[in-house]
Amino acid sequence: MKLLHDFSLSELKAELESMNLKMPRYRAEQLYKWIYDYKPFDEMTNLPLDLRESLKSNYIETPVKIEKELISKDGTRKYLLSLPDGNIVECVLMNYKYGNTICISTQVGCRMGCAFCATGIDGLARNLTAGEMLAEVLAINNHIGGTTADRKITNIVLMGCGEPLDNYDNVVKFIRLISAKEGFNLSQRSISLSTCGLADKIKKLADEDLGITLTISLHASTDEHRKKIMKVANAYSLKELFFAIKYYFEKTRRRIVFEYIELDMNTNEDDAKRLKELCKGISYHFNLIPINATPNSPIENPALKPPTKEKQAAFWEYLKEQGISATTRRTLGSDIEGACGQLRRSTLNKNK
Ligand code: SAH
Ligand code: SF4
Repeated sequence: MKLLHDFSLSELKAELESMNLKMPRYRAEQLYKWIYDYKPFDEMTNLPLDLRESLKSNYIETPVKIEKELISKDGTRKYLLSLPDGNIVECVLMNYKYGNTICISTQVGCRMGCAFCATGIDGLARNLTAGEMLAEVLAINNHIGGTTADRKITNIVLMGCGEPLDNYDNVVKFIRLISAKEGFNLSQRSISLSTCGLADKIKKLADEDLGITLTISLHASTDEHRKKIMKVANAYSLKELFFAIKYYFEKTRRRIVFEYIELDMNTNEDDAKRLKELCKGISYHFNLIPINATPNSPIENPALKPPTKEKQAAFWEYLKEQGISATTRRTLGSDIEGACGQLRRSTLNKNK
C-alpha cells in the first residue's frame, strides 16, 4: 500500500486522477488538508463515503503511530514511533521559550558506525520515505493539540536516528514537503540538518537552494582523532569536509553549527587553535556536548574518555581566547535516554 504523505499537492492530484475516481479537483485539496491534520480516513467528513472507502483500501492511513511517550523532569518528551512495517524509530520534543522543537529520525538505524552512538550499533535497516518523516512531525503536532492552521511545532531538527545525507533524496523531498505553502508551511529557516560530514552530499545540498541550517558533527580537530571515533573520517578528511562546508556557506550565507562532544583527547589548547584555523572564512557556532554514556552507548573505546571538570572549564577559556562562539548544550532529557538511538536500543534489547 502507498503512503499519501509521500505526495506533494500536485502529485496527489495526479495520483487521484490515475485512480479514475471521477471527482472534482477540489477533492484533492480537501484530502491534502486532512492528511496534514493527521486524521484517519473515517474522520475526513467532507469527503464522500465511496472515496473514503477507496482510499482505505489503497493507502496507509496515519503511517506513524506513537507507541510510547516518556516525559523527562525537564519537560522534554521522547517518543517511540512505529512505522507501517513494524520498524521503530525515535523522536524527541523539546520545549524552548520560543516554541516546540521536534527532533526526527531519517533512517531506521545508521550505517555510519560512530563509536559513541547507540543508533549505529546494529547498522542500517532501511531509509525512511519523505512521507514517513513528514508523518513523524504531523503525528506529534496532532498529539500535542496542533493542526496545520494552528501549528504547535515551530522548529525541526533532523538529528534523530540515522544520517540524513545518507538518505539524501527522501530528506530533501521531506524538507520541500514540510515547507510547502499549501501544506505545513514551515519556514526552511526553522529547520536544521545534522550530518556526520558526507562532504560530497554537503556540496550537493548547497546547490538545492534551501534555507536550512547545516549542523556538522565534528567532534575532533585532527583527522587522527576523528578516525578514532568516526568511521566517516576515513572517507573524508577534515580538509575535504571543510572545503564542502565553505562551499555551503558561500552558497547559502547561513551560519554553520558544529556539534562537538567534549572528550579528554579533543579539549586541549591546541584543539581550540586548530578549530579556529579550520573555520576561517565562515560564520559559525559551536555546541559543546557532554558525552551521554548510558548502558546503551558503547563507551569502552578509550578515545571516548570524558575530560575532567577542570579540563572542560579550561577548554571553555581556550575557545574564548580564540574568539570561538560556543554554548554548552543543555543535556535535555538525559533521564529518558535522550541521546540518539538510546531509547530505541534499550527497547529492542528488552524485546530480544
Ligand atoms: N547522523 C547525524 C544526525 C543524528 S546523530 C549526525 O551524526 O550528525 C545526532 C547528534 O547526536 C550527533 O551530533 C551525534 O554526534 C550526537 N550523539 C550521538 N550519540 C551521542 C552520545 N552518546 N553522546 C553525545 N552525543 C551523541
Ligand atoms: Fe549515524 Fe549520526 Fe549515530 Fe554517527 S552519530 S552513527 S552518523 S546517527
